[in-house]
Amino acid sequence: MTADEEVDLFVIGAGSGGVRAARIAAGYGAKVAIAEDFRVGGTCVIRGCVPKKIYVYASRFADEFEQSEGFGWSRPQASFDWGHLVATKEREITRLSAIYAANLEKAGVALHQGRATVTGPNHVMLANGRCFAAKYIAVATGGVPEHRPHVPGLDLAISSNEIFDLPDFPKRLLAVGAGYVALEFASIFVRLGSRVTVAFRGQTILRGFDGDMRDGLTAELQASGIDLRPGLSVLGIERHADGLHVRLSDASTLVVDQVLLATGRRPATRDLGLEHVGVELAEDGSVKVDGFSRSSVPSIYAIGDVTNRVNLTPVAIREGHALADTLFGDKPTPVEHHAIATAVFTTPELGTVGLTEEEARSTLDVVDIYKTSFRPMKSTISGSSTKTMMKIVVDGATDRVVGVHVLGTDAGEMAQLLGIAVKMGATKRDFDATMAVHPTAAEELVTMRTRTARYVREA
Ligand SMILES: Cc1cc2nc3c(=O)[nH]c(=O)nc-3n(C[C@H](O)[C@H](O)[C@H](O)COP(=O)(O)OP(=O)(O)OC[C@H]3O[C@@H](n4cnc5c(N)ncnc54)[C@H](O)[C@@H]3O)c2cc1C
Repeated sequence: MTADEEVDLFVIGAGSGGVRAARIAAGYGAKVAIAEDFRVGGTCVIRGCVPKKIYVYASRFADEFEQSEGFGWSRPQASFDWGHLVATKEREITRLSAIYAANLEKAGVALHQGRATVTGPNHVMLANGRCFAAKYIAVATGGVPEHRPHVPGLDLAISSNEIFDLPDFPKRLLAVGAGYVALEFASIFVRLGSRVTVAFRGQTILRGFDGDMRDGLTAELQASGIDLRPGLSVLGIERHADGLHVRLSDASTLVVDQVLLATGRRPATRDLGLEHVGVELAEDGSVKVDGFSRSSVPSIYAIGDVTNRVNLTPVAIREGHALADTLFGDKPTPVEHHAIATAVFTTPELGTVGLTEEEARSTLDVVDIYKTSFRPMKSTISGSSTKTMMKIVVDGATDRVVGVHVLGTDAGEMAQLLGIAVKMGATKRDFDATMAVHPTAAEELVTMRTRTARYVREA
């Protein structure tokens, strides 16, 4: 196959992972090209983490206004302008996207706007027909929302891609799903003034998170006015004059302005040409890779959500960086996916690192649990019922802290720092030996002395 241009690395997708891989590889002196068919920055910057956090901040002023009264403020006559928020968000993500593009340019990476497909183990073609020969190809195409199962009227619903830019504020919102995306948007919109219902098939929210935290968050979400409806699926959606009529599996019909489907995402590998060149895909469509992100075709690598390992921005970035180190930095670098701290940006937040109590009890012989639940100082004065919950999961045989879970204000910030301690192998004794920062909520993490429970696995 003849090529219009030869490069050392062709990156498909200028999101979190792709941009990092391209920049670092170019820094090592490699000739790098990158293709993006939407906006530089990818999901995180354009329609994920960043705009979401802007909306989370916007939503939390509602609580601040309400709670200020307990501290002597008279409540201002507040009103909210959705159009203003959308425009502010757009300005910020446009600014960030431009910074990403400028950084690529500064690093000497050639940015090509348009869709790319893999046409051979060492060949990539752009939608405009331009062909590249590449020593290595990095697939960094991320994931896309998946609407399932298919029911009549599904095209009337939106995904997280569209919710940021709705022309009209949805006064009544149904979020379908029990994962972090559904719950974060539920938390945002209920505070901005929507009537929010969350319907999900299972019985509990946030599969895979610590059970006590899930229960605690369920109670908090309900207390904030969200109608959580477990055990339900959507059977069909119809547009009527008074809104969208959503038929649910309990034979009820809900009338709403928008239906947000947040039932999952799938790796973006469709029509990418990977199968035709022998790249093995898993059943979920993700690219199968080894510890160095290498696919079954030695010249083709995959990083980030398209591999469906741990679908978070910092992970995609780390995988992209490690790939550049491996291919061009003479530093073969595998990525370790153990004890990754993360947060769910509901209000209150859930911050977590390491094993849940359930995971620890099924894998370790002796598990010690330390947990506490309290009303933080701000709540006691403002009259808010919001509680903070904390749990430390300890390997009883070694005293090592194997998991920490926090539900409460700034839990995401705490998780970041707890991540260091857990990653370093801190013991419960190390936590106890750490002096508290007073007065904070986080100080409870180093003052929980009394074990709540010990579980010994039967032989
Ligand atoms: C609503 C939402 C909220 C989130 N919040 C958080 C959070 O708070 N914290 C966190 O860590 N993570 C969060 N995530 C996850 C995070 O966004 C992803 O893990 C991260 O963006 C993955 O990076 P990536 O490089 O793998 O893919 P992406 O960032 O998705 O980038 C892939 C890029 O490839 C492009 N592309 C795809 N196919 C092609 C093609 N054939 N040719 C050219 N370009 C192509 C796409 O347009 C896209 O720009 C969130 C995700 C969503 C949806």
